[in-house]
Amino acid sequence: MSSTFRPQERGDGTAPDYIYTRHGNPVWEAFEEVLGALEKGRAVAFASGMAAGAAVLATLRPHKVVASNDIYYGNRALLERLGEAPESEVVFVDPTDTDAVLGAAEGADLLWVESPSNPSMLVADIAALASGAHDLGALLLVDNTFATPILQQPLELGADLVLHSVSKFISGHTDLVMGALVARDPSLASRLKEERELTGAIPGPLEAFLALRGLRTLAVRVERAQANASELARRLNEHPKVERVLYPGLESHPGYETAAKQMKGPGAMLSFLVAGGADEAEAVCEKVQVIQHMTSLGGVESTIERRARYSGEVGAPENLLRLSVGIENVEDLWGDIQQALC
Ligand SMILES: *Cc1c(COP(=O)(O)O)cnc(C)c1O
Repeated sequence: MSSTFRPQERGDGTAPDYIYTRHGNPVWEAFEEVLGALEKGRAVAFASGMAAGAAVLATLRPHKVVASNDIYYGNRALLERLGEAPESEVVFVDPTDTDAVLGAAEGADLLWVESPSNPSMLVADIAALASGAHDLGALLLVDNTFATPILQQPLELGADLVLHSVSKFISGHTDLVMGALVARDPSLASRLKEERELTGAIPGPLEAFLALRGLRTLAVRVERAQANASELARRLNEHPKVERVLYPGLESHPGYETAAKQMKGPGAMLSFLVAGGADEAEAVCEKVQVIQHMTSLGGVESTIERRARYSGEVGAPENLLRLSVGIENVEDLWGDIQQALC
């Protein structure tokens, strides 16, 4: 928790480790070491998930990006803005159709996907996209916020960059905003660090401390939240007031097989379509008492919201509710959902 450091004696004539926190801070470095080990790459911490995404575009300066049409709306807006520049092209495609993604990727520098995706829970075939991207000379970025490295390691599947909103499952307690990138190539990680230093997109040491503490329980939190989500998905799927459940752990989900191939489990995020329309879905959000009606995800408490209430959320059905399942007692959660669906 310091902005500046006395020069440290290292005795070997090399430069001191820490000078001023914008250049480097021991707390983020401890966090980066753990996240890098989990994702099997070099981690670089940022002020937020969005700062991490912006650093990718500023560092790579891609002329052409092919992006999934179902990604976090902030990243979509960032990419749309890039696409407005006269020298850039950004194409949005269905990430589950590998041929369509690669067909659009001729001349692209970067492919950007999220899997499972926000909020439609689409599953992209990461290994196939990575090898196709490399044949075309492009890099593949995977936003791994929903899966976390406990369930999916995109670099091991061939991706080049992993993006995290550390604000979500990684920190896990809905008490901070922070982001991270993990690169396979150490020289790309160094360039991302340089971008962070020059733009000042650094996390605070307190946030990094809390995120590191959160990482200690990531595996058990994910395990419990995923068990809850699997049970709720199964029960919601049979509920008469639910039109459809979007969860890669259900055999009826179109991404079930790909998810089973590349993930250790289907995760703790699910979406469901409430029978009726926007009003019926909104009513569920108003009636829940154990589940919190608020945005964001990945905390120990369950949160629910109707994504289409945001104008920036392109393509989300009016009656879609996104549920981030927490670590509460599953019967408390189910009882709450049942009374809210009445
Ligand atoms: C929240 C989120 C982001 C943005 O991260 P912030 O930390 O809010 O800036 C990016 N991707 C996904 C999938 C997210 O859920």
